[in-house]
Amino acid sequence: MSAVERLANSQANIDRIQAVEACFGSSGKMLQKAGRVLIGEGILTKMCRKKLKPRQFYLFNDCIVYGSIIIPRKKLTRQRLIPLAHMFLRPIADTESAAMKHGWYILSKGKSFQVFTATEQEKREWMAHICKCVSDQTGREQVMVTEDPKDTAAVWIPDDKATTCMCCRKVKFNPVIRKHHCRRCGMVVCSGCSRNRALLADIDEKPVRICDLCHRVTSAAASQEGAATNASSTGATPAAAVAAAVDASEDKSTEVAQELAAQTLESPPSPVSRSPAEPVTPDEPMTPDALSSSDEDEDEDDILGDLSKVSREMMIPGNRTSVFFFADNKRESA
Ligand SMILES: [Zn+2]
Ligand SMILES: [Zn+2]
Repeated sequence: MSAVERLANSQANIDRIQAVEACFGSSGKMLQKAGRVLIGEGILTKMCRKKLKPRQFYLFNDCIVYGSIIIPRKKLTRQRLIPLAHMFLRPIADTESAAMKHGWYILSKGKSFQVFTATEQEKREWMAHICKCVSDQTGREQVMVTEDPKDTAAVWIPDDKATTCMCCRKVKFNPVIRKHHCRRCGMVVCSGCSRNRALLADIDEKPVRICDLCHRVTSAAASQEGAATNASSTGATPAAAVAAAVDASEDKSTEVAQELAAQTLESPPSPVSRSPAEPVTPDEPMTPDALSSSDEDEDEDDILGDLSKVSREMMIPGNRTSVFFFADNKRESA
């Protein structure tokens, strides 16, 4: 019996999970569950739509839970739970920017994103613990990858990587004309290029926003397959190319990143290569997005307003925040 199994019913583990539930209060789900063990916790910075944000992360033996910090170690909100069953990790090479060192991608069916720790040691520990938990949970040895697996969610391209719609390449964004994210490929697109919705079962139970390029791919695939109604069953994988575009940008200075974003606009990532060659023209006039009441595009980072005070306290490079409760639950990462 492993240390984790032995301690699943220990009072210490029950108390720790209760403390996590208390931090989220009524904004979170119940986390106590037979056999569930809290392995470790810490503050990681997560790349959100607009910038890196501190998030409290918890690693359980069957899932990762994270949330936005209202009061450090006391009050959290916007709880998210990602099952470990289909999780992969892809390391990110360190950059010049101190805030973007010690990072890796968390890739899963429902959500994929970048996280960073304050120290290299924490990165190694987090990745080793996650790998061990995924392997124990699934029997799958391969958790670390160098390319994004086919059926994981696309990593969203950060807002500041695009000044112009990456689909039509015509609409320029401004405070009135808002940016939207295609849930299938992760590109930053205008509202006119993302009027379609598709059912991507792993991402949401409701139909979600997709860009016109992805709409062509999914509807072409659906008509080929006849009865196919599930857009996620096309087998196409935009995530890797999009992530590569982000990778290409993330280790450069801001100016270079903007240049790269401009280049990206000239040759958008994968969807266009699978689409008919003619240019995409929105078939309706643009409506200023400010007039739209829809807030479905809001990521968690837009809800709480300015968290910069928390950010300053939490994002000190070298300032370790992570604790793991089961030292022997590690395996060396590949
Ligand atoms: Zn557009
Ligand atoms: Zn798309």
